[in-house]
Amino acid sequence: METRFRSGTYKKIKVRLPSGRRTMHFVKRKVGPALCAVCKTKLPGVASERAAKMRKISMAKKTVSRAYGGYMCAKCLRNKIKQEYISGSSIKKENDIKKD
Ligand SMILES: [Zn+2]
Repeated sequence: METRFRSGTYKKIKVRLPSGRRTMHFVKRKVGPALCAVCKTKLPGVASERAAKMRKISMAKKTVSRAYGGYMCAKCLRNKIKQEYISGSSIKKENDIKKD
């Protein structure tokens, strides 16, 4: 067995070859779906692959064209915007802009 296969990153599968010999096949583990950073639900429209494949995928498939898209789900973002508006941070900023 090659040394790189000894780590836990590969899943081992016992395979019987046509000749009758038994060998081990090493399969790379699957990557879980992209999750919301707040509520941990699956993010629709966001790809999740192994790092080497992710590099080849275009940015459009990895994010959603929205603030915090690909990081937070729409529900959590809506709540976050509401909370920030209630806390007054955004209201103050709007008022400052109007004065100028
Ligand atoms: Zn969420």
